[in-house]
Amino acid sequence: MAQATVLIDGNNFYASCEQSLDPALIGRPVVVLSNNDGCIVARSAEARALGFAMGTPYFKARRELEQHNVVVRSSNYALYADMSQRMMSLLEAHTENLEVYSIDEAFAKLHRPTHESLRPWAMRLRARLKQDLGLPIAIGLGASKAQAKLANRLAKQIPNHAGIFDLGQCDQPERWLESIAIEDVWGIGRKLAHWCRLRGVTNARLLRDMPSGELKMKCGVVGLRLQRELRGEACLPLDLTPAPKQETCVSRSFSRPITNIDDLRQAIANYVVRAAEKLRKQQQRAGALTVYTRTSPFISTFYSQTASIRLDLPSNDTSVLLKAAIPLVEHIFRPNRDLAKAGVLMQNLQGTDILQAHLMVPMTDAQHHKREGLMQTVDQLNRRYGNGTIQWAATGLKPSWTMRRERLSRAATTRLSDIPVVHTDQRRPPAIQSRQAQHSAPTEGSG
Ligand SMILES: [Mg+2]
Repeated sequence: MAQATVLIDGNNFYASCEQSLDPALIGRPVVVLSNNDGCIVARSAEARALGFAMGTPYFKARRELEQHNVVVRSSNYALYADMSQRMMSLLEAHTENLEVYSIDEAFAKLHRPTHESLRPWAMRLRARLKQDLGLPIAIGLGASKAQAKLANRLAKQIPNHAGIFDLGQCDQPERWLESIAIEDVWGIGRKLAHWCRLRGVTNARLLRDMPSGELKMKCGVVGLRLQRELRGEACLPLDLTPAPKQETCVSRSFSRPITNIDDLRQAIANYVVRAAEKLRKQQQRAGALTVYTRTSPFISTFYSQTASIRLDLPSNDTSVLLKAAIPLVEHIFRPNRDLAKAGVLMQNLQGTDILQAHLMVPMTDAQHHKREGLMQTVDQLNRRYGNGTIQWAATGLKPSWTMRRERLSRAATTRLSDIPVVHTDQRRPPAIQSRQAQHSAPTEGSG
């Protein structure tokens, strides 16, 4: 039996997550802003229809958003990451192999029955995602990853496809491939698209049929592979076990420039705490770390500085990493500089299954297990009762420079106090609100 490759992709994922947790937003235009409430990074279908473009700075669009009664939200990454995990585990139950490709995209392989369409399967999956998570998805099917990507685009683009398109079982696949501009083909960057256009290759069909030798000369085996994928030959296997991370970074822009070393120390401490948590979650330890800071790149006195340290013993113990990172702050700080951003990079990562002992840093197994147990307990408490329940004093109590998120929705799936509560009243349709919202004025809605 032939195999089909499927790409499942969440529609307007961030905006859809916001809508799925707050029924009052369904059918209303919603936009989500980037860090520090900077730019528009996601739009619901309704906001898209109003013509709000991706990447527009919030301060420029603000008035127009208000005029159109658009709901504006700060990025709620805790919510999106949790919804993504829920979506992926649901998909795992409905496919044979699943490659999680991004926060809202996954590839999978399916057996393609000889005389049957895969559309009923796709319709059931779509309905299930909508029912269980309130998330709309698009499903693209083809013989390869590249075909599945294009099919997904067609599933979204053409309203009467109802979110599903099968390039392996459709009338006139040629016509559909011709409808996709070269710039929109998966793996074709801006430069390569320009090169193609100069040769008259303006759409996916023409790329598929252009002389292979010419494409190979320009972009080697990668280009050749893409062309074969477009012809329906599956060359790119599913990546079922993602490679372990080489580096882990935590960085943020400040809500206001900082000019004092204590603030910078607190910021770096916060990022180290977060990075250490990430390392433990990834079951890795860092062998080295780098801290950095910079001013805004748009000022004439641009300044940036980094400092690194190698650890005697690779570690994911927050205290050990803080002890290594904090002294580095002296090396990157300069007075009278308006620092706009800082970050921490964990490097030389290795799995927790190996730990090389160090002659000069004696640590018994018992000491080691005790520290590991402590970190596990801290992580568990913070997961259960919310981030910052157990905190290191170095991070400061109420930093004033933290990221601006003035329009943040609730952590409705990850924080106990924010769990939505359904009120039923026989005379009225059910209303959903969070426990928190019962005690305070509602914060949602942009007016
Ligand atoms: Mg998407």
